[in-house]
Amino acid sequence: MTTAVRSSSVELRDIHVSFGTLEVLRGVDLRVASGKTTCVIGPSGSGKSTLLRCVNRLQEPDSGDLLLDGTSVIHANPDVLRQRVGMVFQHFNLFGHRSVLDNIVLPLRSVKGLTKEEATAIARARLADVGLAEKAPYRPSALSGGQQQRVAIARALAMDPEVMLFDEATSALDPELVKGVLNLMAGLASRGLTLIVVTHEMGFARSVADEVAFMDAGRIVEQGTPDQIFDNPTSPRLRQFLSQVL
Ligand code: ADP
Ligand code: MG
Repeated sequence: MTTAVRSSSVELRDIHVSFGTLEVLRGVDLRVASGKTTCVIGPSGSGKSTLLRCVNRLQEPDSGDLLLDGTSVIHANPDVLRQRVGMVFQHFNLFGHRSVLDNIVLPLRSVKGLTKEEATAIARARLADVGLAEKAPYRPSALSGGQQQRVAIARALAMDPEVMLFDEATSALDPELVKGVLNLMAGLASRGLTLIVVTHEMGFARSVADEVAFMDAGRIVEQGTPDQIFDNPTSPRLRQFLSQVL
């Protein structure tokens, strides 16, 4: 994948989200510069997925602001926002009854209004990018988990996003399939796409992230370069977390 990408900065300002009486995000500020990668780490239930979902407004915050490229999009059309901000999930979310090719073609047609020919050309190119050109006619179930996740990434990339969100994209994969997906993500980072990556893969965070944000109980407790976060953590909670996962 060598094509240049148009990426955007992302900024979350004082984001609050509650579910009933449970305050899940308690004032989150996060800025990711254009073309940079931030990895979000932290214990289960700390609000990582909710935070990520706020960036494409699958979750609408109760308060706070969201900016893309310096412009607030908190009241923008969510469908337009989601073309600019792609997301990849733990469980792929592919259409099981459609071919791999159609999984990419159909959203391109419905969301972008492309003709079948235009959408098919883009879909085949993105499948080739992730090394799966020959899988186009198959159902997703005929592919390994790692291949299915690469199809999901190709589908998101087909929209030509400025930002990509990954929510534990390798957590459901067998161990031997993790590396291929992480390598693909690292390639996107090196191409200069803006990435926000929720992950338990500390090796990936250390080697690919420009910044790492540690979340606990609905707040970003500590944020810095991988060296700062992994080698010189300051908060007791981060030290405790790292002692459990490293
Ligand atoms: P993480 O991704 O860090 O594990 P989540 O953002 O998924 O954390 O969840 C944070 C907290 O919010 C958890 O306590 C979870 O149970 C709760 N939560 C998440 N989504 C919902 C929802 N739609 N309704 C009610 N509670 C939710
Ligand atoms: Mg989660």
